[in-house]
Amino acid sequence: MASAFAHAALGATLGKLFLPEKRHWPYWLAAAACAALPDVDALGYRLGVPYNSLWGHRGLTHSLLAAAIVAAGGVLLSRLVQRVGRPAAARLGLLLFLATASHGLLDAMTTGGLGVAFFSPWHLERYFFPLRPIKVSPLSIRGFFGSRGLLVLASEAGWVGLPCLLLLLGQQWGRPRHFVDASK
Ligand SMILES: [Zn+2]
Repeated sequence: MASAFAHAALGATLGKLFLPEKRHWPYWLAAAACAALPDVDALGYRLGVPYNSLWGHRGLTHSLLAAAIVAAGGVLLSRLVQRVGRPAAARLGLLLFLATASHGLLDAMTTGGLGVAFFSPWHLERYFFPLRPIKVSPLSIRGFFGSRGLLVLASEAGWVGLPCLLLLLGQQWGRPRHFVDASK
């Protein structure tokens, strides 16, 4: 897996790109959480669920189906908790789907582990992308601290953090400017 930091950073970036208004910041956090969520399967891994099984790490929770379910659940939840000023359901649904699905995309660009079961439960094959520049993160928290964790973070800073930053800067610069007419 990529680390939770990288997944959350990409999710939050998508949130800001899709819902740029500051009042929507809770949805940026929601998108960050959705992007990190698929690694909940690491708990099963610790409990002995085989890596390459349906419920194994990078299995069903990393699939496009799981992303669609998370997105639908998120939209439903937002309808329940926010009555006014909430984002359009289609836009929010697309954001949460892409944020959750982005997790598998990053994992499929890492240097280790098994690939991602994007099409689970129908097809259990695991996939990697041809380009895999992101150093794989240790599954255990303890393994993350130390020199290996630093290498992972450095790799993610270049391959995930920097592109996210550039996207956000591009959004900022591309925004229409409203000039105050001083002659009035
Ligand atoms: Zn993962």
